[in-house]
This record gives sequence, C-alpha cells and structure tokens, in this order.
Amino acid sequence: MAGTTRIIEHPLIQHKLTHMRRRETAAPEFRRLLREIAMLMAYEVMRDQKLRVITIETPVATTQAPVLAAKSVCLISILRAGSGLLDGMLDVMPEARVGHIGVYRDPETLEAIEYYCKLPADIAEREVLLLDPMLATGHSAIAAISRIKAAGAATIRYVCLLAAPEGLEAVYTSHPEVTVYTAAVDSHLDEHGYIVPGLGDAGDRLFGTR
Ligand code: URA
Repeated sequence: MAGTTRIIEHPLIQHKLTHMRRRETAAPEFRRLLREIAMLMAYEVMRDQKLRVITIETPVATTQAPVLAAKSVCLISILRAGSGLLDGMLDVMPEARVGHIGVYRDPETLEAIEYYCKLPADIAEREVLLLDPMLATGHSAIAAISRIKAAGAATIRYVCLLAAPEGLEAVYTSHPEVTVYTAAVDSHLDEHGYIVPGLGDAGDRLFGTR
C-alpha cells in the first residue's frame, strides 16, 4: 500500500480509546475523552514542526527563544464528528485557522456528498490537518482532500482516531502523498460501512443523537 500511516500508540491514548469504544460510555464522557486524545495526538502530529528563534524579554533578562517557524497550521474539521477532534486540537493550537467541510454519506451507496465548505483564504500558506475521527470507506476523506487541494492547499495530513484498512487503501490510491495519523487500525468494515470493532457512529456518540 502506498502512503504513510502513523499509528500513535501512546499508552494514554490507547487507554482513553478503549473507554471510548465501550458501549456504555455516554456522550459527555465520550466527548471529553476525544478532546483529550486530540490534544495528545497534536503533540505527536506537530513533532516535526520547524522552529525559529526570536528575541524576547523575560522579567529577568533578554534572551533568544524558539517559536513555530511558519504560519501556523490550518485545522479542517469534516462535519460533524470532526468537531470532536477540533476542540482538543484548538486547546493546544489556539492560533490555528479553522475550516469546515460538510460531507455526508449516502446511506445506500456510502458515497460522500458535500453540502458545506468554508476554508481560510490563506490555506495555501498553511499546513492542513484534516480532522475526522473515523476513516471508514475513505469516501469522505477523499472528497475532502480533493476539495482542499482545489482550494490551493499544498501540505495535507489526515488525523483520525480509528482507521479501517479499506479506508487507508482508498485514501492512498487517490492521494498517496497524504500521511494518515491514527490511534489504531481496526479489523475491517461491516456491510453498513461501520468500522469493526470500532466504536459505533462517532457523531451520534459525541452529540447523543441516537
Ligand atoms: N463513521 C462512524 O462514525 N463510525 C464508523 O464505524 C464508520 C463511519
């Protein structure tokens, strides 16, 4: 399979993910866990970010200290479940610009249908982190990546919580240069396009809609 998958296996993330998977975990706890995992994943995703040195005044002395080199990242949430990852990422990167793409799955064909898109004007100058907790068939991811590329984005990384092998294959076939960060790669998709064992419908579990 072309393309790079980075599995973030930190024990804190794996522990929290297990509690998210449990059927009995209710929406408030599920939301809190996803937010915390997003913060921890941001730490790994941003690991290679370049720094530049600036001169600052501390209360004691003038010194040189590092800050992020480039314009900050652009976080793009695939609605609606992407919001769960977005909150945690923004907690640690409050200066990031934010875009939203609304894509829903046709329940019959599982095809991705775009219904909303609002992206920052300077997206071409920023590194994009595309956020959606569940990489299942890959249809939404592929549609969102194509849309973001058309808007001028040069660097796109995809951040999810769980990925299915089928989704990874599909994304890398269409967009082999995209690196996918995930906390786990699960077994397979069921006949309804759900990740197995997965955690069910991430949007419903985040917002208590079922
Ligand atoms: N979307 C979800 O929310 N869950 C899945 O298992 C697959 C797609």
